Amino acid sequence: MWYAIRARLARWIDRYFYIRISTKITLLYAAILFFVLILSTAILGVGAYIYFYRQAEVDLDRSIRHVMNNIESGHAAEAKFWFEGPVIPGVIVRITDDAGRVVLDTDAHFPSIETVENGRVSAPFWASPDMELSEFRNGAVYHAQRDIEYGGIPYHIHFFRTITTEKDFFNALQRLLFYTVAICFVLALIAGHFISTRILKPIRQITWTARSIEVERLGRRLDVPRARDELAELARTFNRMLDRLQEGFRQEQRFVSDASHELRTPLTVILGYSDMLSRWGREDRNILDEGITAIRSEAENMQQLIEKLLFLARADQKRQAVNKEDVNLAEMLADTMEKMQMVTTTHEVTLGANTPAIVSADPVLLRQLLRIFLENSLKYTPAGGHIHAFSARSQDGASVLVTLTDDGIGIAPEHQPHIFDRFYRVDSSRTKETGGSGLGLSIARWIAERHDIEITLTSEVDVGTSITLAIPLVKDSA
Ligand code: ADP
Repeated sequence: MWYAIRARLARWIDRYFYIRISTKITLLYAAILFFVLILSTAILGVGAYIYFYRQAEVDLDRSIRHVMNNIESGHAAEAKFWFEGPVIPGVIVRITDDAGRVVLDTDAHFPSIETVENGRVSAPFWASPDMELSEFRNGAVYHAQRDIEYGGIPYHIHFFRTITTEKDFFNALQRLLFYTVAICFVLALIAGHFISTRILKPIRQITWTARSIEVERLGRRLDVPRARDELAELARTFNRMLDRLQEGFRQEQRFVSDASHELRTPLTVILGYSDMLSRWGREDRNILDEGITAIRSEAENMQQLIEKLLFLARADQKRQAVNKEDVNLAEMLADTMEKMQMVTTTHEVTLGANTPAIVSADPVLLRQLLRIFLENSLKYTPAGGHIHAFSARSQDGASVLVTLTDDGIGIAPEHQPHIFDRFYRVDSSRTKETGGSGLGLSIARWIAERHDIEITLTSEVDVGTSITLAIPLVKDSA
């Protein structure tokens, strides 16, 4: 119940009030300190209070027992007993008869019984039930009464113990504790405010810098505080996030400009041919044929390019579906190679050892992956060249290694790290003839990543290129 109210209050405050963290921390710590101070002073105060009463009670109790024992044993009948101090110092005995007359008194200056009776207040709950407490103008008295009969006449024996000094001391202590708590609380507020403001200063700086960062000006970075703490970590994380964002924006801008650039070339060609056709195509049959063929080929290039762009766009937006199922890789490799053999007249396409293997993959994407590499081999291997594929189990038996080799133009070492980047082409004039856009391998990389396939490339200029795909096997088939 209390917890629910507190949670609601906190939510309400958070919603409607802007309270600085430093203020919250200060208030929280001050409140905790205040609570601890109050608790300890309360314990101290109550302890002192109980102790005073206890002392008075013990004194009274002992005195009562001493007097009553002596009365019982008959010693009290001698006047000597009363004059030699029958009670503990500080305790006063006064005997009255039924009419209230004082018969014996160890301190005649002590306030009268009426005064004491009039000032009676209720004794604290822990006090012994037969003790009374009275307070009057300049003092406080703890007292008890015993009734006896002597010679057939009833008497009342009153025992008093003044606790004025103790009470004064207690009051002084109370005041002192109150001021100490108040001063400590104020000091804690001031110190807490200064300390937390100082500690949280970098956060305000971070906020200011973050405000000044915009999409067009992503270059700004936060100053990382020298101390190695959470704030430095926050600033560093924030900077790293900005690095990634900036890189993301840069890539996106480059992608858009590269894509537009790629699309512009076939469009220019198409426009050129259609101009030519409109001028001479009607009369000249050869020009008509050439124009139509060229326009068709460029349109096909464009279509392929757009397909690839759409694929990558879907991949970037995580919308490209990957529907994995158990795929018979050996069958797929054999089938792909067979189709290649059928359509390729210029190159020799062969399939070597083909180990049986079941892999978990999206069949459409896996076939696309194989074809990207095989078509590259075809594109970058001069006519008469040889394209060969084979598969084998890896040494640990956990995956199947599919190797696709060609004896084509190869890739120079300085280009090898980049060929999987988008729009990267080793020699754009050569690839232009082959209709390459530099997107094939980036699609291959994406497909491989989604299937945990590791790609290894070895290539040498004018010797050839070899690609090995390590495809994880389905566990039961391994
Ligand atoms: P493209 O559509 O231009 O072929 P890719 O992304 O498939 O784009 O390939 C990137 C570049 O890598 C190609 O432009 C080509 O220069 C080089 N490359 C890829 N495969 C081979 C290969 N088998 N032999 C030689 N170069 C290759």
